[in-house]
Amino acid sequence: MRDRLGKVKTVIRRRRRAVQLTVLALLILAPFVHLFRFDLPSMSLYLFGTRLWVKHVFVFLLLLVTVIYAIIAASLLFGRVFCGWVCPQNLFNELTRTWDRRLGRAGSILLSVAISLFGGFVVWSYFHDGVALLREYRSGQVPLVPTAFIAFFGLFFTGAMAWWRTSVCRVVCPYGHLQSIISNPDTMHLQVFNLPGNRDICATCGLCAEICHMGVDPRTTEQKHCVVCGDCLDACALVSGARKVPRVLNFTIGSGERAVALRERGQLWQNVRRLAPRLLLPLTLTVALGGLSAYFLVHRPLVDLVVAKDHRLALAAGSPVSSGAVMAVSVINLSEQPDRFHLEVEGLPEYWATLEQSTVELGPGERALVRLRVHPTERKVGSHRFTVRVVAEQSGAEASFETVHVVY
Ligand code: SF4
Ligand code: SF4
Repeated sequence: MRDRLGKVKTVIRRRRRAVQLTVLALLILAPFVHLFRFDLPSMSLYLFGTRLWVKHVFVFLLLLVTVIYAIIAASLLFGRVFCGWVCPQNLFNELTRTWDRRLGRAGSILLSVAISLFGGFVVWSYFHDGVALLREYRSGQVPLVPTAFIAFFGLFFTGAMAWWRTSVCRVVCPYGHLQSIISNPDTMHLQVFNLPGNRDICATCGLCAEICHMGVDPRTTEQKHCVVCGDCLDACALVSGARKVPRVLNFTIGSGERAVALRERGQLWQNVRRLAPRLLLPLTLTVALGGLSAYFLVHRPLVDLVVAKDHRLALAAGSPVSSGAVMAVSVINLSEQPDRFHLEVEGLPEYWATLEQSTVELGPGERALVRLRVHPTERKVGSHRFTVRVVAEQSGAEASFETVHVVY
């Protein structure tokens, strides 16, 4: 069997490997170049080199919806393409099979442990400063919490790489289950597809099923675990080439009479037309949501201002709460730089409002509570609407908060 598999020219696999390794490199680098990282100590999120705070959570949620929608749209059209071409777990499912053969079982497990511990360190770096942790290790310190975290994840990844392997994709992975639910008969699948004239029929050699690392027989309709890796197509190309017939196994879209093999260049336009209506909506929505995310990322607020009559905030500002005219002004620096913020009150008669501080200096993500006392110098009964405004000196960011003071 190994001889037969060794002859397969892995044309599609080589392209796929390039994609998988690029994604893996990005996933490893992402927390260190601030491409994507939750920084738990400061409760902030790095996204494409930009630092976001809790108040910006809507940007992250919008982007998350975009990504989820893009994955679902891709899955609806192309099946578990994400698993086969992007997911690192599936990459390691394949690599560990090769390591088993080349290094023996013990060598393969040892390599899995080393990679898993490194994986645990990368996961830790998604939530904390990984470089600082490395510095601690180099200076001879072994901090307990990160080390225990890395050991725990290392153990889990070792189990996934050395023993559980595709069971993780079949049983544990929520995306795998989602895919089983959302796929439909038109989702791209594998099919022995005979060209007109029924000339190139399947040789029933079984090589396509032998090569499949997910245990799928692509000649059957039971393909929910197929990850669209294309290995079986390469295998079938070998067999079909020896028989001097076009490859009989193909990725196919549509079902029954409407089924079209994607390799048929003569039917390329037909393929595009068939895919277009299904591609239009998901692609439009993905692009629109992605555009919105980018817009909000660029135009996110850089300062947050809240004026609260809430006694808890007033207490936190250190003010007495017996008077209803004491308010707490909360200012948060939502930029990535330290800044000086100027506060002012507009809309009240002169001398009615006193800010405890008119300027506050804040580091990134820091918050200041400033007492605002409203004390009318004359008894003007009614509602007095006024605005508290803040302007940042460096970033130029502005915010205002409108509220009301009632004189009985
Ligand atoms: S059936 Fe073919 S494409 Fe699907 S996972 Fe197996 S080898 Fe890959
Ligand atoms: S490799 Fe091709 S010819 Fe051989 S059994 Fe699979 S589909 Fe048929």
